[in-house]
Amino acid sequence: MTAPSIFDALKALSLPDRAVIDGGLVKAASGQTFDNVSPRDGTLINKVAACQAVDVDRAVASARKAFEDGRWRDQGPRAKKAVLFRLAELMERDAEDLALLESLDTGKPIRDARAVDVPLSIGTCRWYAEALDKVYGEVGAAPVDRLSWAVHEPLGVVGAIVPWNFPLHMAMWKVAPALAMGNSVVLKPAEQSPLTALKLGELALEAGLPAGVLNVIPGLGGVAGEALALSMDVDMIAFTGSGPVGRRLMEYSGRSNLKRVSLELGGKSPQIVFADCRHLDAAAEAAAWGVFYNQGEVCTAASRLLVEEGIKDAFVEKVIAVAKAMVPGDPLDPDTVFGAMVSERQMNTALDYIATAESQGARRLLGGQRVRQDTGGFYVEPTIFDGLQPDHTLAREEVFGPVLGVQTFKDADEAIALANDTVYGLAAGLWTSDIDRALTSARRLKAGLVWVNGWDACDITMPFGGFKQSGFGRDRSLHTLHKYADLKSVSVTLR
Ligand code: NAD
Repeated sequence: MTAPSIFDALKALSLPDRAVIDGGLVKAASGQTFDNVSPRDGTLINKVAACQAVDVDRAVASARKAFEDGRWRDQGPRAKKAVLFRLAELMERDAEDLALLESLDTGKPIRDARAVDVPLSIGTCRWYAEALDKVYGEVGAAPVDRLSWAVHEPLGVVGAIVPWNFPLHMAMWKVAPALAMGNSVVLKPAEQSPLTALKLGELALEAGLPAGVLNVIPGLGGVAGEALALSMDVDMIAFTGSGPVGRRLMEYSGRSNLKRVSLELGGKSPQIVFADCRHLDAAAEAAAWGVFYNQGEVCTAASRLLVEEGIKDAFVEKVIAVAKAMVPGDPLDPDTVFGAMVSERQMNTALDYIATAESQGARRLLGGQRVRQDTGGFYVEPTIFDGLQPDHTLAREEVFGPVLGVQTFKDADEAIALANDTVYGLAAGLWTSDIDRALTSARRLKAGLVWVNGWDACDITMPFGGFKQSGFGRDRSLHTLHKYADLKSVSVTLR
């Protein structure tokens, strides 16, 4: 008997299509659905509940009730940990289903969904479960007849609005710390990728999270997302996504209840390679994977490569050699390392940026085409442009696709000036074997994440987020727990 194929597993897969509200799996009140399309072949995966304002209000009301009656907030740390650990166990039990759903929904290679998205999401859940009783208040200096302390209290109802590039992982970056601090959550997945968030909502109920503490409302951004962000009863919106929507969320906050907003937006992240670097092969691997991983749909994508003049041609040859091995393929084939873009729209955006770069005079060295069109899927080759000028659109705007632009510099001052010449400030990297240069450059780069002699050296213990228009508020690390809490000062006068 032959081993069951991934396609057999796919046939047996149950596809979540209902919202998770108040402990139940429900259709939208209007009965409306939206089409959830697979990027691998452009076919319909399923029709998913399209939540409207009335559904969002129900979810928020359920989250509010759950918060106020303390069914989760007031459980002791041990009880909370047990539920979150159980959730992690259930995700582990269903890891293969989660990976399949993620790959099918987003077009990312199944090998990445299995090796990266799902295990990191489980790890995040466990990490915040471990951390939740390590949040200490403080006792302040006070006169002898007074005792004063400051304590972190949960905010209440947190709305989490997440994107489609790492749907489960980004959801977990927000849901796990928000729950760990005792909040209730209403999660709005992106309409391109609702499946793993819905499955997460189901698993949380199975794990014993009380009804209403985690609601999941699939729907369109301008409908369900907007209703959530305008709600008078949501205390915070935690967002990852585009700059324009980030701006709107701040407006919605001003127009409603001044809810807190945390924004993780995009970037135009530079990777600088100095000629003194003794690890140019590793740097070339990082230059290619840094921008082409996940088809370039990564907020920290290293989309600008800044190379010291003398080594540029030889170095770029190495990068091209690495990129040539990233041949777009079926995301569900375990050998595929480079999959499909999430949607026809996102593919066309990337192709438009490629056309603009050519028209502005950048020189295409690799790729540039839509491929595998016969499959009906949305595939774009890894693409490299040389001769990028600081005023080119490709040097200034985020593509969120597999397009790299190469620039050169003469010395460290010019490299840092070019690197910082952007409205963004999410990530930056540098490759050098000079310790002084590494340390000074790391200090001078205006970015929330700086990697030296490596790219995307990520760890849950370190804060993740941007400077400038890349947003504010951090995911990951213990700092994030404070984001989901208010600080209360209590003073007792001793009489
Ligand atoms: P987006 O910002 O439109 O969508 C992100 C989330 O916001 C989704 O859940 C969406 O439904 C929701 N949303 C959309 N409009 C909303 C509104 N008016 N009110 C409330 N919620 C709303 O991102 P996109 O259109 O999916 O992608 C466009 C660009 O966003 C990309 O090209 C990329 O630049 C950026 N992006 C960044 C990240 C990141 O990790 N920083 C992730 C995905 C996309």
